[in-house]
Amino acid sequence: MSRPPFLVPIAELAQRPGARLRVRLAGPLQVELSSARLTDDDVVADVTLESQGDTMTVTGTATGWWEGECRRCLETTGGEVTVRLSEVFEPHPTEGETYPLGRDAVDLEPALREALALALPLAPLCDEACAGPDPDAHPVGVAEDEEDEVDAQPATDPRWGALDALKFD
Ligand SMILES: [Zn+2]
Repeated sequence: MSRPPFLVPIAELAQRPGARLRVRLAGPLQVELSSARLTDDDVVADVTLESQGDTMTVTGTATGWWEGECRRCLETTGGEVTVRLSEVFEPHPTEGETYPLGRDAVDLEPALREALALALPLAPLCDEACAGPDPDAHPVGVAEDEEDEVDAQPATDPRWGALDALKFD
């Protein structure tokens, strides 16, 4: 078995409070939301670990690639996702606030997964100007029953503009 890609040996660092270690790590991470997911491409983390005695702070960035379905045209889209990290690792972590710190190593994977999951788009768009399904590719009627058509509402319909002009004072 290969070593987990985001595991950093810290035995020496932990004994020198104030000491810093900059590492660049890369490996695949599985992060999946209903709307988007990380691709199989490596996530690259460029972080600095700083020993604080009993705890360890980790700051830096992580970059990955995501793919998902455009909420309007339903075609596959994607892009780069970069997150800033500023996390605390300690032997007895607080759920939802800090992450576990081992004696000899720290695994950054849980922190990376969480940060990247929060950064994935909840409603992907292939392009701000995406006009929705290509009528030729999606025969009329196929998507009629779908609930999530909120975005399909035209912002301004010229006919309503004409009605607006007919306000009764
Ligand atoms: Zn689209």
